[in-house]
Amino acid sequence: MIAYRQISQIVSMTKVIPPPLMENLLPFRVRPEWKQGEKAVMTTPRYCPVCFKEIPPEDCVCPFCKIDIPVWTRSTPYTSRLIHALNNPHSEVRMGSILSLGERGDLEAARALVDCALRWPTDVVQGLEIVRAVGRLPDSPERKDALNRLFFHSSRPVRKASERTLRDLGATLRPKNPEVRQRRL
Ligand SMILES: [Zn+2]
Repeated sequence: MIAYRQISQIVSMTKVIPPPLMENLLPFRVRPEWKQGEKAVMTTPRYCPVCFKEIPPEDCVCPFCKIDIPVWTRSTPYTSRLIHALNNPHSEVRMGSILSLGERGDLEAARALVDCALRWPTDVVQGLEIVRAVGRLPDSPERKDALNRLFFHSSRPVRKASERTLRDLGATLRPKNPEVRQRRL
């Protein structure tokens, strides 16, 4: 394993590094595309918004799920795209969607937000952000139901946050299964 300090020493000593050596030295995300004798070009990975697989930057049609990305983007409402992004395997993308959905306050997202929190039981930061996002939705049975469902999250801080949010909103915790409530408190 070569440390970054050593890499920078090698880079400073060598004007042109052969591609195989450079590929071994740099982590995948910052690996430049080298052309012999040319400056390195940094590339950002691009992902399909539907199946979330990494795709070539120039492709309009995903080679995996065959979706026409510009057509899908134009024909799918923004909220629906944000809700779909809650399934993204990258936590930073999911977090972006959660924040945006919380800002938009669209009740359509209530169920999907809770599903997302329960699908990633160990992601406490995400779970807490989802409680906040759900708490910002308009007062409705959907919001109350979502906060009650969040009480089944495996993380105690998330459960406590959902209970606190319900209390702040003047509602009482009514999880569907009282036994589970008893066990988890
Ligand atoms: Zn795809």
